Amino acid sequence: MKLKSIGITYLLLSLAPTAIQAENKFNPNIANDMKSTVTQSVNAEVNSKADENPLLAEWKGAFGGTPLFDRVKVADFKPALESAMTEKLSEVERIAKNPAAPTFKNTIAAMERTGRTLDRVQAVYGVWSSAMNNAEFQTVEREMSPKLAAFSDKITQNETLFRRIETVYNSPAKTKLAPEQQRLTWLYYTNFVRAGARLAPDAKARLSEINQQLAGLFTRFSQNQLADESEQFLVIKSEAELAGLPQSLRDAAAQEAAAKKMSGAWVITNTRSSVDPFLTYSERRELREKAWRMFVNRGDNGDAHDNNQIITEILQLRAERAKLLGYPTHAHWRLDDKMAKTPERTMELMEAVWKPAVARVREEVADMQALAKKEGANIKIEPWDYRYYAEKVRKERYDLDQNEVKQYLQLDKLREGMFWVAGELFNFNFSPVTNVPVYHPDVKVWEVKDKTTGKHVGLWYFDPFAREGKSSGAWMNAYRNQERVDGSITTIVSNNSNFVKGKPGEPVLISWDDATTLFHEFGHALHGLSSNVTYPSLSGTSVATDYVEFPSQILERWISTPEVLQKFAVHYQTGKPIPQNLVDRIERASAFNQGFATVEYLASALVDMKMHLAGSQKIDPDAFERKTLAELGMPGEIVMRHRTPQFGHVFSSDGYSAGYYSYIWSDVISADAYDAFVEAGGPYDKAVAARLRKYVFSVGNTIDPADAYRAFRGRDPKIEALMRKRGFPVNGSKKSKSAKPTAKPR
Ligand SMILES: [Zn+2]
Repeated sequence: MKLKSIGITYLLLSLAPTAIQAENKFNPNIANDMKSTVTQSVNAEVNSKADENPLLAEWKGAFGGTPLFDRVKVADFKPALESAMTEKLSEVERIAKNPAAPTFKNTIAAMERTGRTLDRVQAVYGVWSSAMNNAEFQTVEREMSPKLAAFSDKITQNETLFRRIETVYNSPAKTKLAPEQQRLTWLYYTNFVRAGARLAPDAKARLSEINQQLAGLFTRFSQNQLADESEQFLVIKSEAELAGLPQSLRDAAAQEAAAKKMSGAWVITNTRSSVDPFLTYSERRELREKAWRMFVNRGDNGDAHDNNQIITEILQLRAERAKLLGYPTHAHWRLDDKMAKTPERTMELMEAVWKPAVARVREEVADMQALAKKEGANIKIEPWDYRYYAEKVRKERYDLDQNEVKQYLQLDKLREGMFWVAGELFNFNFSPVTNVPVYHPDVKVWEVKDKTTGKHVGLWYFDPFAREGKSSGAWMNAYRNQERVDGSITTIVSNNSNFVKGKPGEPVLISWDDATTLFHEFGHALHGLSSNVTYPSLSGTSVATDYVEFPSQILERWISTPEVLQKFAVHYQTGKPIPQNLVDRIERASAFNQGFATVEYLASALVDMKMHLAGSQKIDPDAFERKTLAELGMPGEIVMRHRTPQFGHVFSSDGYSAGYYSYIWSDVISADAYDAFVEAGGPYDKAVAARLRKYVFSVGNTIDPADAYRAFRGRDPKIEALMRKRGFPVNGSKKSKSAKPTAKPR
């Protein structure tokens, strides 16, 4: 997850383009002796400005204050960002110019206290970027993204400030600091060095130019993708063309057409949540092909929204930046501070899984081909046929119809199920709140408390439905991180999805896949809500991108526990729980189609890594994609989950660049971790849950992830659990029977 993002699992909103900004926030701080004066003058300034610009105002009211979403005017963003950046720069400058010798307290801890106003403005700005985007906002975004990049560089390139950080980092006194303080010192030092703090002045200037250019390109990439997703759609004009579509999909398509004032028609929008079900059910092969082409060609149509040239430029700038920073390639630079450490280790893992996955695809295609033949269809399976025939094979072999399952998957009930799981595993209690402002009537808010003590833990905002101006996909973000630098501050997190609204007054039914995504994003939210750290830069989900999917992926496993299914998977009309024999059929089919799921994901992850290992050669994305896939032996029946021109994970920020492998890296960990529950008393084993919370969910980035995992599991993760889960052979053995549903790349 990332956060502003588009079409992905977006986890942390990366408003700023450099890695340091995406992964770490620099918060304000002031040495104690200066604190009162500075605070007073800053407050006076903020208060007078806030009268004119509500975005600058403190968040007041219950729950430690909440975002003032009801007072947002797009025209206020630019002056608010500019004023908040100026404020933060002056706070940082005071730290840099402090005449006292550098200490943890007057330098590192002080930095954690800077930029409070900017944090608030950016939290709201991020919501508008990802969920309330429109032409007026896009103009602001295009102007502000390079400015935010330059701002970030001004801090990391502040020579005097870096000398202070370096002095604290190298000081013998460091070993006397608390472990969390030592970790924070290491993080600041590492992030500054990684961002070029040690470069010569001319190299720094070039670096900053590159970052600003990249920021502009990322924004254009995202806006192009959003344009193709909202401006292109498939219009269906007759009942006959709806053949095969379930009623819920017809209703949603009719509503979409009504929203576009196209009466008597049906509209399939150009997003995954619309196109995937259409490809699964439509009996009209020519329409499937049409929808498929529209979807996989987003950003690749040779028109004003084409992303190819932008990608070429991004790759060249990234390669140049990596060289400046002393790394052979962008991939090496990105991996250096991740759990995987080197691109080679990620390639090893991906290649180990690739071959068995492709072998499974061959079997899947043979099954589908045979079934098509039996039905009299004289066709060769094409990419627009895969989901359609896979669904037929699923029905035939496992007697499992996704539509039958869907009748038991009501959005509201599943949400209650997630709350119940959070209560069992983390002792959380959720209750609705109505007295805080929201940015759209669809958004609902819950207060999270400790079940035993009743103590306030945080707020959870939920924005479930697709709408124009909202990025596709699903993501989590934090509007405010938990911390206690100066007294306890609780977190505010949000989950965002793109479910299609049903008919008014009727429950929203979602697919098993979407239900899994719902639990996934909720796992990120619980990671944020469980945070128990001192410093905001180390809080919640601010961990390495190849570790951050572990908490979310492991949470997916609880949806298929009997406790959740019996209580919360109830029929939308009869209220009866899902029958056991249907649960058994789901269980038996759980490794079904894993060849497809694994290959479409790995193809994207491998292309991402290889593009960023290619160095400074000029890359034509289409040609590179074709050549790489041919070399890999990509099955012709499957396309990448995210083709390059729409790969927002990789090109809408640096966030997941050379980082899409993270999902499988994390899934090795999450599969292995879930086995800890299986080996103990089952998914609700209290002792294992307590260890998971203590060593994983609550620690943020205060501990090296490999150490944290060892503390939880008693050893390093092993790949076997992942292979079993996906139904692939382990160490040469045949298919495993105990296959479990696989964590999905979002
Ligand atoms: Zn995720």
